[in-house]
Amino acid sequence: MEKRVYNFSAGPSMLPLEVLERAQRELVCYPSCGMSVMEMSHRSKMFENILEQAKADLKELMHIPENYKILFLQGGGSTQFAMVPLNLMNKSNKADYVVTGQWAKKAAEEAKRYGTVNIAASSADTTFDRIPALDKSKFTPDADYFYITLNNTIYGTRWTELPDVGNVPLVGDMSSSILSQEIDITKFGLLYAGAQKNLGPAGVTVVIIRDDLLGNEMDFTPTMLKYSVHADNNSLYNTPPTYGIYFVGLVFDWVKRQGGVAAIQKRNEKKAGILYDFLDASSLFHGTVVKKDRSLMNAPFILPTEELNAKFIKEAEAQGFVNLKGHRTVGGMRASMYNAMPVEGVEKLVAFMEQFEKENG
Ligand SMILES: *Cc1c(COP(=O)(O)O)cnc(C)c1O
Repeated sequence: MEKRVYNFSAGPSMLPLEVLERAQRELVCYPSCGMSVMEMSHRSKMFENILEQAKADLKELMHIPENYKILFLQGGGSTQFAMVPLNLMNKSNKADYVVTGQWAKKAAEEAKRYGTVNIAASSADTTFDRIPALDKSKFTPDADYFYITLNNTIYGTRWTELPDVGNVPLVGDMSSSILSQEIDITKFGLLYAGAQKNLGPAGVTVVIIRDDLLGNEMDFTPTMLKYSVHADNNSLYNTPPTYGIYFVGLVFDWVKRQGGVAAIQKRNEKKAGILYDFLDASSLFHGTVVKKDRSLMNAPFILPTEELNAKFIKEAEAQGFVNLKGHRTVGGMRASMYNAMPVEGVEKLVAFMEQFEKENG
């Protein structure tokens, strides 16, 4: 096999080698089936078992209660920006959004097409370097939902404490942090995540929705964009992304074998700690996020000049640390350390950064 690199991409991103190898073994013939998962009817017993196992494993991993449905949909995280208002903005036709970065902003803008969006807080004025302080007097008391992005992939912040929104359903975009740390699902009415950061290949989106939020779509909601249609049909209304569902199922199984989400969280805290401790001690590298809101998944950092940023990215790549270039709107560097990134990958990156500092400091 060719040598694998340490892939620090923000997404699509690194997947566990064990999972890739298992998928490779099962690619041509899924055990006892004589065919690939890609070739199976989505209505077959074989595929039904794969789907049910994936649901059961996610339910166990995230401690999802009985009154929630797990859906496997298409259209990526971005389709949820429309599905959330189309399905939930149905009583007062108002919703609160906290704008913590580009993904939250895009979600709020999409929702404006369907109702009244109140920006309850924003950290745009400090280039999204933090989660903004909340002022309850800015909340809409009769909002149909309150929307947050749990981990801000581009800017490297995360909510460490959930907002207290009373009886208003809390909606969370967890695309870049699902299964990275323990979360109290009962605090949410709806959580969703595109697969390509922590779960598997792009093409499947996991939605976890509380039963009472189903079935109140706006009249003109396209059938394919109704959560209730997918819930009533167990994600089999039409052909779902079968291979993607199989693959996220393998990742759920892998997370279980790592000791579950609590064990993964410990490992993620260790990895992030190694990098942030180095950044805090460095006189050359500089983290861009306020400490209390630092993400466990995405760590943006900069060097004093554009020349040094470019030099670092180039030399890192030559050493097998790839995709460290920051988002085009932020510049500098960003190291994404999703669940599949081993501790050793971060240790080696930091050793390289130390060396770079000695040579360029
Ligand atoms: C990547 C990402 C998205 C967009 O996902 P797509 O599948 O590309 O539509 C949305 N929200 C967050 C937090 C993300 O990290």
